[in-house]
Amino acid sequence: MFSQEKRVGVAVLGLGNVGSEVVRIIHDNADDLAARIGAPLALRGIGVRRVAADRGVPVELLTDNIEELVSREDVDIVVELMGPVEPARKAILSALENGKSVVTANKALLSISTGELAQAAESAHVDLYFEAAVAGAIPVIRPLTQSLAGDTVLRVAGIVNGTTNYILSEMDSAGIDYQTALADASALGYAEADPTADVEGYDAAAKAAILASIAFHTRVTADEVYREGITKITPADFAFARALGCTIKLLSICERVTDGDGRQWVSARVYPALVPLTHPLAAVNGAFNAVVVEAEAAGRLMFYGQGAGGAPTASAVAGDLVMAARNRVLGSRGPRESRYAQLPVLPIGSVSTRYYVSMHVADKPGVLSTVAAEFAKREVSIAEVRQEGVADEGGHPIGARIVVITHRATDAALSDTVAALADLDVVQRVASVLRLEGTAE
Ligand code: NAP
Repeated sequence: MFSQEKRVGVAVLGLGNVGSEVVRIIHDNADDLAARIGAPLALRGIGVRRVAADRGVPVELLTDNIEELVSREDVDIVVELMGPVEPARKAILSALENGKSVVTANKALLSISTGELAQAAESAHVDLYFEAAVAGAIPVIRPLTQSLAGDTVLRVAGIVNGTTNYILSEMDSAGIDYQTALADASALGYAEADPTADVEGYDAAAKAAILASIAFHTRVTADEVYREGITKITPADFAFARALGCTIKLLSICERVTDGDGRQWVSARVYPALVPLTHPLAAVNGAFNAVVVEAEAAGRLMFYGQGAGGAPTASAVAGDLVMAARNRVLGSRGPRESRYAQLPVLPIGSVSTRYYVSMHVADKPGVLSTVAAEFAKREVSIAEVRQEGVADEGGHPIGARIVVITHRATDAALSDTVAALADLDVVQRVASVLRLEGTAE
């Protein structure tokens, strides 16, 4: 049941980029929200660190006593927008234990403790919604959990980190190096002071864990997601990508994989990959996000839009708030966590993709066949080879660059091959190894 006077009591934790926009929506759209919910929302309090009169909301709504706020009798729904893992975890668990429904955008927390939070929501028979945790404004959690509930999801692949997509887009369009593009992203406010979570792929891996968990009715945590960042991508990689009709994107890929014995696995992985310019994800530029879902009956669906920012993220939070409030009014609950399948996570060594391997070699006869032999020994089939001369600053030839594109091979076979190539006398260095996604075999 919901609280007094047929109003749905709401506590918002956090008044930052997202929290302040959610508070604005609750205030500015009060009548429309009430009509959609079937009862008005009543904002009971806002949890912050700094309680002060200059924060754009009535100071009497502010409190730094989170524990008291989430256990108030007149609060039905707690909207957690504080981040990071703590104090958010403690506050959410306390809210759930007190019988409040919870809406959160906290991907870092969800990707490490989905089970704990889901269990607490289950025990209390309340809702736990988190549409905003993946790809900001873009509806992707609800389509996966509800619209596609009757279908079988095969693959979810997307660009779910705006910072890295901005950096890679700039490197591609302006031909600049990684450090320059990162500096541009910081100057424009797209990258944080410490960009590690974005550029090393941790943020994308957290989102991949959430997507894999809901798409495959299983539980995948962030540390089970294979992860590589974008810091080693060079302008030369982009030049070769362009020559191949591709660009480079940081992809989060969640896949249902059936092995040779008919056993099903979940593969969840994040890495920069070559993507053909004809693929829908290649056209996603700047800070935008997109997620492509492939399901057995539905085929391919694409979701595109703003993956971050106060207002876009608040849109997804407000959508969850309306759902949770409506359930409260009706005395019902939305769908709970579904993890009946409990598929094991496929080790990265067994994941099969195509590869691009770029290496600097001595420019002399027989090198190509020596290199090709290492691929053949490990049954990594070569689809295409390109070779070009490399000169020093004075224009004198100093070697050659060989780029090999493979057919599908396992990561283990490819890693072995690369290690062997690096040991060859004729190979000066293996400059780059990238996967190739979104192409035919
Ligand atoms: P933010 O601007 O840093 O705001 C955080 C808010 O939480 C601040 O108002 C802060 O209070 C409050 N807070 C932090 N620690 C607290 C504590 N111990 N006790 C009380 N209040 C505390 O963060 P944000 O960008 O809005 O992000 C909020 C959440 O949304 C995070 O989980 C984030 O991952 C997620 N998210 C954000 C975006 C985005 O584009 N920003 C997109 C998707 C998801 P003070 O103001 O008093 O310091």
